[in-house]
Amino acid sequence: MTYRNLADLLSVSAAAHPNRTAVVCGAQRYSYAELDAAVNRVAGLLVSRGLRTGEKVALSSPNVPQFTIAYYGVLKAGGVVVPLNVLLKDREIAYHLRDSEARAYLAFEGTPELPVGAWAKAGFDAADGCRDLFLLDTGALTWEPGERPESLAAAVAEQPPTFETVTVDLDDTAVILYTSGTTGLPKGAELRHRNMLDNALIAKDIVGADPERPDTYLSVLPLFHSFGQTMIQNGALAVGGKLVMLPRFDAGAALRAMLEHEITYFAGVPTMYWGLLNALDETVDVARLAARLRVAVAGGSALPVEIHREFLRRFGVTILEGYGLSETSPVASFARFGEEPRVGSIGVPIPGVEMKLIDNDWSEVKDVPGEIGEIAIKGHNVMKGYYRRPDDTSWAIRDGWFRTGDLARKDEDGFYFIVDRSKDMIIRGGFNVYPREIEEVLLQHPAVSLVAVIGVPHPSHGEEIKAFVVPAVGATTTEAELVAWARQEIAAYKYPRVVEFVNALPMTATGKILKRELS
Ligand code: AMP
Repeated sequence: MTYRNLADLLSVSAAAHPNRTAVVCGAQRYSYAELDAAVNRVAGLLVSRGLRTGEKVALSSPNVPQFTIAYYGVLKAGGVVVPLNVLLKDREIAYHLRDSEARAYLAFEGTPELPVGAWAKAGFDAADGCRDLFLLDTGALTWEPGERPESLAAAVAEQPPTFETVTVDLDDTAVILYTSGTTGLPKGAELRHRNMLDNALIAKDIVGADPERPDTYLSVLPLFHSFGQTMIQNGALAVGGKLVMLPRFDAGAALRAMLEHEITYFAGVPTMYWGLLNALDETVDVARLAARLRVAVAGGSALPVEIHREFLRRFGVTILEGYGLSETSPVASFARFGEEPRVGSIGVPIPGVEMKLIDNDWSEVKDVPGEIGEIAIKGHNVMKGYYRRPDDTSWAIRDGWFRTGDLARKDEDGFYFIVDRSKDMIIRGGFNVYPREIEEVLLQHPAVSLVAVIGVPHPSHGEEIKAFVVPAVGATTTEAELVAWARQEIAAYKYPRVVEFVNALPMTATGKILKRELS
């Protein structure tokens, strides 16, 4: 198959299976033909407003069909999509619009609780250079007279349902994903059409997807993030699958949607699995859910061994853990589908991708099992660079190798195990301590439901180890008991000296625990 543009993932499936359901979200349902026509109208509108190949179009939307329609519409028109986190407020939006040199902005109107459209309007007004703002309207916000931005639905009404996809150079940028990387302000990772195409096509192959019996995907990972974009949206459309979208993750709603839509494919970050397991009560027909579920994928942060085991026990499905970053489209390594799982491993590099472990000055660490080094990645998935940041790009990419900031070791069969992120490593009294190891130990205590371990300043040790613990429902424990538990299991320099009990841990919109907000 020759692709002209990342958007061909959809065009090819729409031509092959026009009547199959592509997307369901509440009462909205689009067949592949309907989705393709809606995409064509957006592409037609953007071109009619003067969008030229390679110009950037920002997009703020939760997981609703309009996200996919806008995303593919921009691509078909030859534009570059810049998906933004829906939680960004006006000042941050203005920064992203300016930094990406966005020419147009498509923003979900939102709700009174999440007034995306109001923030988008203020951000748009503050960012000069962005010429068009279109609202993906919900009708849920009240606007001052004359303030409401132009409605996308109204603007596309006159557009024809067909559009000739703009042929691009596959080495040109398709998507700019903002990420904090290892330091500093959010930077735009520029991903080529080819990066995203290859990763989506591999994403479906590595889980044994069958175009004749396509999966039904629960789309709860935010689509503005690379994990949801590739593993769910693009992977599903590439194989002619059905996307069932939930605008935000709620464990109870996710379980209900899994039953109602007979979900066969679930992908989530570890805290989503934790949420699902905690929401299982006698009202949930787990046997029925489990009978349908074919694939469960985790990534985005370390999957605790306890969650892996518990999910297998309740659902009879082995979670396949993958690893990657926004900068690597995102998938770099993945569990081997259909093989005995290596619990705690992020698998092996995907086809066409190489990984190695390096030290601070880029030299490869000794290639012996157990040696810890920083993961470097090379292959078709590595981004072009950080948009308009040559220094950051040359710091991160050398001779095609991208350095990740993640520390790992390898076993004798070449399976990688993440030890921790280098920036999360605690140095206590001169010893390196990896929070993940301590978290795994604490999670084995029956009274611990969720945990995050960080380093806090200490006058003589430099850093001291502190654990934030969300207790399990109905369980009681004490700081002394947990400290003693950990002390039994791990070396004296590693066990946490301080435990703070909390009701919840701060999380990103993707569901990753936000350690930098803990102290
Ligand atoms: P992002 O760019 O938001 O996708 O974040 C990428 C980061 O997520 C990586 O650098 C890792 O620190 C983390 N990450 C992704 N997958 C895993 C995994 N399976 N285990 C541990 N950390 C992961």
